[in-house]
Amino acid sequence: MSDTLFEKIIRREIPADIVYEDDLSLAFRDITPQAPVHILVIPKKPIPMLEKAEAEDQGLLGHLLLVVQKIAAQEKLAKGFRVVINNGEHGGQTVFHLHLHLLGDRPMDWPPG
Ligand code: 5GP
Repeated sequence: MSDTLFEKIIRREIPADIVYEDDLSLAFRDITPQAPVHILVIPKKPIPMLEKAEAEDQGLLGHLLLVVQKIAAQEKLAKGFRVVINNGEHGGQTVFHLHLHLLGDRPMDWPPG
């Protein structure tokens, strides 16, 4: 399995502004924020993209959503927030380690671009 940028962040080989960590996940601020709050939540397990997740990852996927909820509270996003998973070429995915974008602190448009 190829080693991505995010695996290097997990191993502290490249710096990141980490806002949360537990045994299963890590969360850090996006280097090119698309909103005042833009945080990436990733599993430590190197799942390349959502479509590669398996039945055994069910608990982990649920865990990541609860981590998003926890960070949204930590960041005081009381007015709401958006969670995005880009999958593959048409999804706009650029880093092939599963990640949830947590975006907040501004109103979001719909539909997305
Ligand atoms: P994707 O396009 O794959 O859904 O999202 C990848 C995200 O990773 C992008 O929003 C991009 O700005 C972010 N990103 C790329 N390189 C780095 C980096 O070195 N550090 C951090 N913190 N974020 C990165």
